[in-house]
Order: sequence, then structure tokens, then C-alpha cells
Amino acid sequence: MADMPEGHQGEGFFATKLGDVVGLARKNSIWPLPFATSCCGIEFMATMGSHYDLARFGSERVGFSPRQCDLLMVMGTIAKKMGPVVRQVYLQMAEPRWVMAVGACACSGGIFDTYSVLQGIDQVVPVDVYVPGCPPRPEGIIDGILKVQDLIANESLRRRNSPQYKELLQSYGIQ
Ligand code: SF4
Repeated sequence: MADMPEGHQGEGFFATKLGDVVGLARKNSIWPLPFATSCCGIEFMATMGSHYDLARFGSERVGFSPRQCDLLMVMGTIAKKMGPVVRQVYLQMAEPRWVMAVGACACSGGIFDTYSVLQGIDQVVPVDVYVPGCPPRPEGIIDGILKVQDLIANESLRRRNSPQYKELLQSYGIQ
């Protein structure tokens, strides 16, 4: 059960801020897009299973259509050749969108310090939450989802139009 945002309550009425209501709705209805290329993806499968049950956090609607999803979860080793594909998927997602790097490979290239592996997906897209581990346990992935939920709940409705956010995207060559 989601907690009510702060507000003023009286007999027959409850008043709060629009941003808090939007944040509450968004954070409890995340639609993840799993971009799983290797072992970390298996941990994600476990996270979606009945034991860990990501549905408890309103995130059971996993989608493979970037235009409908708002949380890109990159799990696994990303070869440099896959970098443009990750970026293309990110570009196809509508705002507001968030990105989670799951596991050492997605965060930093992990043990694959080689010519062919991208040393972290934050070289091609901005990342909101990093989940460490090789692989992270499902508890770690759930912790990452809770961190993303915190970000979503507290994000200003104006952030996506702010000069700072545009500057961040421009640093990735995104208009
Ligand atoms: S971080 Fe470890 S478990 Fe995850 S994809 Fe890389 S090698 Fe596999």
C-alpha cells in the first residue's frame, strides 16, 4: 500500500501538492524495459519471479517497447558495438525516463577491461542509479528499484525542462 503524500486533512477533504501526487503515481507504476545481455539478466528473471516478486513495487509490467517504458534497466556486458543500440533504445523512450545500470559490467565494464567492452553505459546514456555486484543479488536489484522510486517521488515536475537537464543531455549529444 502506497503512503499518502504530506498534506492538509480535514473532514471530507485532503489537500496536497500536485507534484507529490504525480510523483506518487509515477513511482508506483514504473514500466521497466529490461535490456539484458548476459548473466545479470538471470538475476533479473529471479527478481521478477514469485519469490522476490517485483510486482510488489508496481513494476510488474515489463515491456519491450521503448515508447511505452520509463525505466531502462541495462543488465549485462555491453560490447562497444552494442553501445549505439542502448543509446537508440534510450532515445526512443519518452520523457520522463530513468536509467538503471545493473551489475559491474553495465556500471563500469566489470572484469572485462578489454578493447571490445564498453567501460560503463554512462559513456552513452545518463544513468540515474548504479547497482553494484557481479552479479547483484535480486535484493540488490530491488534496492536499486527503491532508489529509483525515491528519485521519481522527489523529482520536480520542472526538472525535465530545466537548463541543467538540457545541459546533461547535450553532454551526451542528445537534443
Ligand atoms: S556483472 Fe558479472 S554477472 Fe553481471 S553480466 Fe557482468 S560478468 Fe555477468
